[in-house]
Amino acid sequence: MIIIMKHGVTKQEIDDVAEKVRKLGYEPHLMPGIEKTIIAAVGDERGKARLQALESMHGVEDVVPILKPYKLASREVKTNNTIITVNNVKIGGEKVVVMAGPCSVESREQLLETARAVKDAGADILRGGAFKPRTSPYDFQGLEEEGLKLLSEARAATGLPIITEVMNPMDVDLIVKYSDILQVGARNVQNFPLLKDLGQVKKPILLKRGLMTTIKEFLMSAEYILSEGNKEVILCERGIRTFETATRNTLDLSCIPVLRKETHLPIIVDPSHAVGHWEYVAPMAKAAVAAGADGLMIEVHSCPEEAYSDGPQSLKPTKFAKLMEELKPFIKAAGRK
Ligand code: PEP
Ligand code: MN
Repeated sequence: MIIIMKHGVTKQEIDDVAEKVRKLGYEPHLMPGIEKTIIAAVGDERGKARLQALESMHGVEDVVPILKPYKLASREVKTNNTIITVNNVKIGGEKVVVMAGPCSVESREQLLETARAVKDAGADILRGGAFKPRTSPYDFQGLEEEGLKLLSEARAATGLPIITEVMNPMDVDLIVKYSDILQVGARNVQNFPLLKDLGQVKKPILLKRGLMTTIKEFLMSAEYILSEGNKEVILCERGIRTFETATRNTLDLSCIPVLRKETHLPIIVDPSHAVGHWEYVAPMAKAAVAAGADGLMIEVHSCPEEAYSDGPQSLKPTKFAKLMEELKPFIKAAGRK
């Protein structure tokens, strides 16, 4: 249920309602809006009637049911877009945010060279995998904690915040110590124990859409994180599996307007994993911006021919710098910065 508070309500009135919601066995999620504060009471739907009675409390304007199954992610409970601040970078605001870097952290030299290059080209956030979800157990699995240390070094050298993937609930505490944003990969989008653990974390989570995940399922996964108390979820479309084999996956650009309508959460597009070939990355990056994405995640490698993972889809630093220039008119046309 959504408890809509009256305009000009006092903090005490909000606290009293939140307390009452808690007493009824629900978790009150405060959603301060521009006009009005909303309290989302999320829990067992069978107690709806008791929540309805809160209409008689001071400061309460209305109590209405949340119709969408993804309650906290939906625009029903929060009409204004969520903006997530990481260091000085605002994700979901006016600026189109670019996260760039190698698929895997491989060595100090490779990471620092790539990090400096993406920073010089104007990237906002450095990406790099230390724990890699590889299809084959014989492929490079990542440098693990050593990789996290190298990412911290690259952050210190460039000033860029870092994002890296967490695959296993057991690694959450370790990765939280190093990374500014935690990434959930496509293959873990429905790893519910992991999502619940990330709901307890005090850092933003970038959640990738799975290869076979519908938009509704994607939002339900975001809901797992939100319902545990972590309100900082960033959604990332990275291509879904279709019958087409010319590209690694099929970039579902239509999910951008759909998600925009359904949710207040920021929407990032990763064209690299979607197309799987470096030549196709730039056109799809531009298309994503034109369609209204809040940002991009792009794989860049100092020497893609030698990459341990995803070399074919990685841009060389010069090509990335060219793309960053070419994106400018698209960003402007989309009314963004
Ligand atoms: C990645 O970002 O390197 C990655 C493995 O992505 P995805 O989970 O989208 O395949
Ligand atoms: Mn990759």
